[in-house]
Amino acid sequence: MRVAIAGAGLAGLSCAKYLTDAGHTPIVLERRDVLGGKVAAWKDSDGDWYETGLHIFFGAYPNILQLFKELDIEDRLQWKEHTMIFNQPNAPGTYSRFDFPDLPAPLNGIVAILRNNDMLTWPEKIRFGIGLLPAMIQGQKYVEEMDKYSWTEWLKKQNIPPRVEKEVFIAMSKALNFIGPEEISATILLTALNRFLQEKSGSKMAFLDGSPTERLCQPIVDYIAERGGEVRLNAPLKEILLNPDGTVKGFLLRGLNGAVDEVFAADLYVSAMPVDPLKVILPKPWQQMEFFQKLEGLEGVPVINLHLWFDRKLTQIDHLLFSRSPLLSVYADMSNTCREYANPDRSMLELVLAPAKDWIAKSDEEIVNATIAELKKLFPDHFGGENSAKLLKYHVVKTPRSVYKATPGRQQYRPSQTTPIANFYLTGDYTMQRYLASMEGAVLSGKLTAQAIAEAENQVANPSHLQTPTRPPATNAATA
Ligand SMILES: Cc1cc2nc3c(=O)[nH]c(=O)nc-3n(C[C@H](O)[C@H](O)[C@H](O)COP(=O)(O)OP(=O)(O)OC[C@H]3O[C@@H](n4cnc5c(N)ncnc54)[C@H](O)[C@@H]3O)c2cc1C
Repeated sequence: MRVAIAGAGLAGLSCAKYLTDAGHTPIVLERRDVLGGKVAAWKDSDGDWYETGLHIFFGAYPNILQLFKELDIEDRLQWKEHTMIFNQPNAPGTYSRFDFPDLPAPLNGIVAILRNNDMLTWPEKIRFGIGLLPAMIQGQKYVEEMDKYSWTEWLKKQNIPPRVEKEVFIAMSKALNFIGPEEISATILLTALNRFLQEKSGSKMAFLDGSPTERLCQPIVDYIAERGGEVRLNAPLKEILLNPDGTVKGFLLRGLNGAVDEVFAADLYVSAMPVDPLKVILPKPWQQMEFFQKLEGLEGVPVINLHLWFDRKLTQIDHLLFSRSPLLSVYADMSNTCREYANPDRSMLELVLAPAKDWIAKSDEEIVNATIAELKKLFPDHFGGENSAKLLKYHVVKTPRSVYKATPGRQQYRPSQTTPIANFYLTGDYTMQRYLASMEGAVLSGKLTAQAIAEAENQVANPSHLQTPTRPPATNAATA
C-alpha cells in the first residue's frame, strides 16, 4: 500500500521505516529543505554545524535504541559516564554530581541521591524519598492520575520541602519541557523519575557523534529508499482534500518557486506534523469532531538553542550540565562531547534557553549578550578578567512552538494514532504514547502508527478478525 506521510521529523521517518518493514510503500512529504524537524541541523559557511536543539539520548529510550540497532548505527551513540552534573549558583564555577554506582536499580539511583550532600540535606532526601513511594509502588496508574497537579503542587501535597524544588527540580523541569515546576504537570517529572529509578541505565546519557540530520535521519531515509519508499523535501502539505464521505481524497502540496500545486494521492494518509500546524490545516468538516477538537488543548512551547564558539577551551567536562541559571537550562561543551564537533583547543557551547516566552521575540544579539552575562557565573575563571574569553561567532535557533507544553491536564488531550477517519492516521511526539514529548516518544509514536496501519490491513484481509475494534473508543469518535 502507498502511504503518504506529511512531515520528516523522527515520528514521520520512524513510521515510514516500520511501514517498509511491514511491506508497504511510504512516501514522506516534508515542508522544509531539511530532514529531522526538531532535530534538524544546518552547516554554516565555515562548515560548522548548528542544531535546533541540544539532544540527549537516555538509557531509558528502548525504541530509539532499538532503531539504532536495526539501522546498524549503534556506534554513533557516544555514551557518557553515568552521572548527572549540576552547576552550583552559590559557588560559581563548581559542580555537584549525582554519581550512579554499578548496582542494580533502584539501588544505584538511591545511592546516587544519598551520596550527594551539596544540594540536599539528609532530612530533605528522606522526605523526598517517602514522597516518591506511591509513584514507585503504584506505578504508571498513579503517575497518570497526578496529571491534575503541577510539580510544585505535587511536592507540597507530599510535604516535600520547597528547597528540594529549588535545588533540583527547577533545572529538571526546564530540561524536560522548557518550563518551570510551577507550570509543568507532575506526570512529566514522575514519568522521568520512574524510568530513571526503575531501570539501571535509565538516566545514562549519550550524545550523537555528529549532526542528527546526517547521522540519524539520513540512515533512516536510506533504509526507506532501499526498500522502495521515498522521502521528498520541499513538499509542504497545503490542504487535506476530502471525499464526499469525509475520508481523505488526497494531499494538496503547495508548488514552490512558481510551480503549480500538486495533488498527491495514496491509499492511506498520515500527519507527522507537529500539533500546531495540524490544527491550522484540519479540513472544516473534521473541525466539528470531538476527536480533532481536543487538539485545541495542546500547544507548542517556545525554546531557544544557542551555539557559542570561543577562542579557547572553557572546560574539559565531557557531559551534559544542568546550569541552574534563571535564563538557561542544560548545556554542553560540544567540542568535548561530540566526535564530529571535537576541538582540543576551542570550546563550542551549545545551550538551551528556557523558559523562552519572554525571549523568543528578542534579537539574537540581546539573547547572546544575556547568555554571556550568565556564562560569567558559570565560568568565572574565563570571563570578566583582563584575559576574558572571546566569542568568535554564534548561531541562535528559535523554535516558537516546539514540543507541546505539558501543563497539568494535557494528557486527556493527547490523541490516539488512529482517528475517526478510516484512511487518516496521526503520528508525532504529542500523540498518546507512554514516553514524554521526546525523540523516544516520536520514534515510538511512528512505530505505533505503522502497527495500527498493519493491524487495520490485516483485518481487511481477514474479515473474521473484524470484531477487534480498529478505531478509537466512542469518546474519540465523531460527534457531528
Ligand atoms: C531545543 C530542543 C531540545 C530538545 N532536547 C531533547 C533531548 O535532549 N532529548 C529528547 O529526547 N528530545 C529532545 N527534544 C524533543 C525532540 O526533538 C522532539 O520531541 C522530537 O524530535 C519531535 O519529533 P516529531 O517527529 O514528533 O516532530 P517534529 O520533529 O516537529 O517533526 C514534524 C515535521 O513536520 C514538518 N511539517 C510541518 N508542517 C508541514 C507541512 N505543512 N507539510 C509537510 N511537513 C510539515 C516539519 O517541518 C517537521 O519536519 C528537544 C527539542 C528541542 C526543540
